[in-house]
Amino acid sequence: MVKKKVEVLVAGGGTAGVIAGLAAARGGANTLIIEKQRCLGGQFTVGMQGAWVGFSDKEKVIVKGIAWELRNRLHEKNAMVEDDPETDVCFLYDPEIAKVVLDEMVAAEPNLSVFLDTSIVDVIMEGDKVVGLIALSGSELTEIRAQVVVDCSGDAVVAAKSGASYEIRPKKDIQPMTLMGKMAGVDIERVKEYYKENPPVVDHMVPPAWREFKTFPGFMHYGLHDELKDVELPEDLEYLRSWLAIFTSTPNAGEFTINCSGAIEAHSIEGFGERTKQEIFSQKCLYDVATVLKRYVPGFENAYLTSIAGLLGIRESRRIEGDYKVTLDDFLEAKDFEDSIGRGAMPAGVHTPDGITMNVYNLEPGKSMTIPYRCMLPRGKDGIIVAGRCVSYEAPVANCIRCMPQCMAMGEAAGVAAALAVKSGVEPRDVDISKLQAKLRANGAII
Ligand SMILES: Cc1cc2nc3c(=O)[nH]c(=O)nc-3n(C[C@H](O)[C@H](O)[C@H](O)COP(=O)(O)OP(=O)(O)OC[C@H]3O[C@@H](n4cnc5c(N)ncnc54)[C@H](O)[C@@H]3O)c2cc1C
Repeated sequence: MVKKKVEVLVAGGGTAGVIAGLAAARGGANTLIIEKQRCLGGQFTVGMQGAWVGFSDKEKVIVKGIAWELRNRLHEKNAMVEDDPETDVCFLYDPEIAKVVLDEMVAAEPNLSVFLDTSIVDVIMEGDKVVGLIALSGSELTEIRAQVVVDCSGDAVVAAKSGASYEIRPKKDIQPMTLMGKMAGVDIERVKEYYKENPPVVDHMVPPAWREFKTFPGFMHYGLHDELKDVELPEDLEYLRSWLAIFTSTPNAGEFTINCSGAIEAHSIEGFGERTKQEIFSQKCLYDVATVLKRYVPGFENAYLTSIAGLLGIRESRRIEGDYKVTLDDFLEAKDFEDSIGRGAMPAGVHTPDGITMNVYNLEPGKSMTIPYRCMLPRGKDGIIVAGRCVSYEAPVANCIRCMPQCMAMGEAAGVAAALAVKSGVEPRDVDISKLQAKLRANGAII
């Protein structure tokens, strides 16, 4: 087996992972990112999200650091739209351009390398300490040892394989998965005009905090309840009437992203036969949504489906049991943790498993919850930090903490902490918090 050694090893180069890699490398650690997709970015790019929500608490920006640098780089390439960044919680970006921008940022770091098309298949342990990973590329296995492993796999793959405890909800409770898609050829002005004249009324189930999003010059709309209320749908399209569907414009003229509940019958990490069926159904679902929009929504008459994401969107899978678990009360109190490494202000809550609606809890404008470093440390395990949607929190906190700006803020903190741990020869949980916070602040992060 090929053997390799680095100081910091990042498992998963997705939303949190690529930022963790950049932060660790900039912190002076020899860093390697391993990513199983053919490009960096995870849900941020391959998942085709396109709507970055959670940069602002509706009064001011609450996430900066490397995520903000990325936002600025996307602006330079005309691949971003936002209204007022201080108050606009939704920034629309182009995931394809984002792939290239991430490559540019990585290429600029001499301490950082990346293995793409490479899967982590196992962990190497010494007692309770993670000391490396086994990765598979093609048919070649590589043993990579590291002083700190940062688990940014979204599914807590490394933590779970290390024997760390985690929570995962059963299929009846877990949030639905969604495959994202895109349409082009939309007459956005006509769409906006239509909704100005026919303000959505059946949209009452959409929580006010979500309805109030200002995304102009973009556009965001929920569900097709109003549009379809007097329409007799063919039987095979009837299921779309009640599902939550979020339509968002993009920085590109005439283009829309479709985020419609799709894979509601499968579980994110169990029953892969069922999941395969749902992958296939999700593609059909996008085709069906496009058909309905074209037939029944003014402005979509000449629109067509242009792309289907290469990665199924997983909202929820494993969440580690961390040194601290963020609770719904912490969110509701807008808690200020002493070991804060970032902030979130999006409504907490979850999408319901039936794909029909969301249950959410709001914070007042201007308020935000801090994210404690301890929720990124798997209880009882050393040599590992976790960042992204699989950190430690109660399920109803999800919508606040799993948004992309928050995942990126956690990624940055994990990378900085990993580099500090390497430099000072300590375990991640023994990193001096005041040094970590000072370094994050010096890098422009808001904590
Ligand atoms: C349908 C949907 C809609 C959403 N809408 C929004 C939105 O509008 N705005 C917003 O801000 N957020 C949104 N989110 C949330 C957000 O996109 C995710 O929570 C966030 O991107 C997760 O980041 P992550 O880094 O934890 O995981 P990911 O971005 O998924 O990254 C994990 C990476 O790890 C890699 N990986 C996994 N296992 C392995 C392995 N064994 N070996 C190697 N690599 C591996 C994956 O390929 C992936 O690249 C949405 C999520 C979904 C699913």
